[in-house]
Amino acid sequence: MGTLAIIASVILGISFMTFVAFFGRIPALRNTPISFLHRLIFIHLPSSVVSLDRLLTNGRLTTSLTRLAHYLWYDQHPTILIFFFLLLSVGEYLYLPVAWPLLSRTHKFLGTISIILPYLFLYLSAFTDPAHITPSTHVREMARYPYDFSLFHPGTICETCRLLKPARSKHCSICKKCVGRMDHHCIFINNCVGANNQRWFILLLLSTAILTSYGGLLGLDIIRTKIQVRFPYWTLLPWWTSRAAWQSGELDFHRWLVLWTWGLQSGVAMGSVTLLALLTTPLVWGLLGYHLWLVYCGTTTNESMKWQDWQAEMDEGGVYKRKIEGRERVKDLKVEPAWTRWPVEAEQILVRTDDGKPPRESHRLPGEGNEWEAVWRLKDVENLYDIGLWDNLVDVFCPYFMFREARGRGSPVDEREFGRERGRGRRRSS
Ligand SMILES: [Zn+2]
Ligand SMILES: [Zn+2]
Repeated sequence: MGTLAIIASVILGISFMTFVAFFGRIPALRNTPISFLHRLIFIHLPSSVVSLDRLLTNGRLTTSLTRLAHYLWYDQHPTILIFFFLLLSVGEYLYLPVAWPLLSRTHKFLGTISIILPYLFLYLSAFTDPAHITPSTHVREMARYPYDFSLFHPGTICETCRLLKPARSKHCSICKKCVGRMDHHCIFINNCVGANNQRWFILLLLSTAILTSYGGLLGLDIIRTKIQVRFPYWTLLPWWTSRAAWQSGELDFHRWLVLWTWGLQSGVAMGSVTLLALLTTPLVWGLLGYHLWLVYCGTTTNESMKWQDWQAEMDEGGVYKRKIEGRERVKDLKVEPAWTRWPVEAEQILVRTDDGKPPRESHRLPGEGNEWEAVWRLKDVENLYDIGLWDNLVDVFCPYFMFREARGRGSPVDEREFGRERGRGRRRSS
């Protein structure tokens, strides 16, 4: 029980820390114990260690540690990618020699596929250009999305890249480049998740979720069979079909647990991998669900944080929207592309004011003649980048499809009218 309990608690601890690291910064979990723990572990604890060290050794110890931590967190290096690769490979190396001979032909076939796919999608997510914005790709990236005049406004220049920032792009401080439709920088793939590799990233999450669930359940079944050969009255769950054994006193909770441990210990390596797979499964499905939810909402991790900031502003008051008219004025400044491949254009402008009053005359760009309307809820704001589940999926999984469609329709000037009938962006659903 001793070693097994240690292995299980280490695995559980690592899974929990990873969970906090991943989900602690998600806007939906703001003001929850998860975000509190995230702040405690990743902000308050390191800063108190730093101040203690400053007091004791004049900061000598932490300077080198900070440099290492900074390198690990803010530089592009494949450490975590290699760790992930090794986790998969070592897990399979420990698991397969025990499990493989016991599997049926169908499970061998399905198992082979579910082992190969995570490697394939890991390779594709890590080595596909996520849509880096360089002088040679800038025109294409500018034509990807129109500005929504809420989160993204024309005319902003990236200080580092010295290029106009396309709508939905973000500069990645780790890759040191701007990325088209930036979602987030993922240390597991040592790459940004952007317009061109988000599909591979989602498929990586899906294939990993299937692998850990499948491997975990198969491992559980193998352990169950092994125990039942010696103790036929034992069952996986204490109250399942072994009620008679429990009633006759042949099994009690303690003995049930002891037999569990006996089964796991008779193959510690495979048992540990099975436990690891089962414990990480909810994390992987959770991450997949979160990313699919973002696709459903037509947004990105980066944008959902910006929306959350808008909600905070709305709570305080001083956020106003207005219908846009006179769009040509902005286009004339040559900071907006003449056309984009996106089927809809912005119809609303969202602004915040410091004094809580509607914007004054000088703010009246680019629409004039309309009255400002106070906004209190995100539901009342249109998300230009949400064009319905199906088209959102097409945009993520076939990023070049809409470019092709746009190109087939004539000159860029005519493109301004293209696809208008496909419907406006939907209202924000969160
Ligand atoms: Zn940049
Ligand atoms: Zn990056």
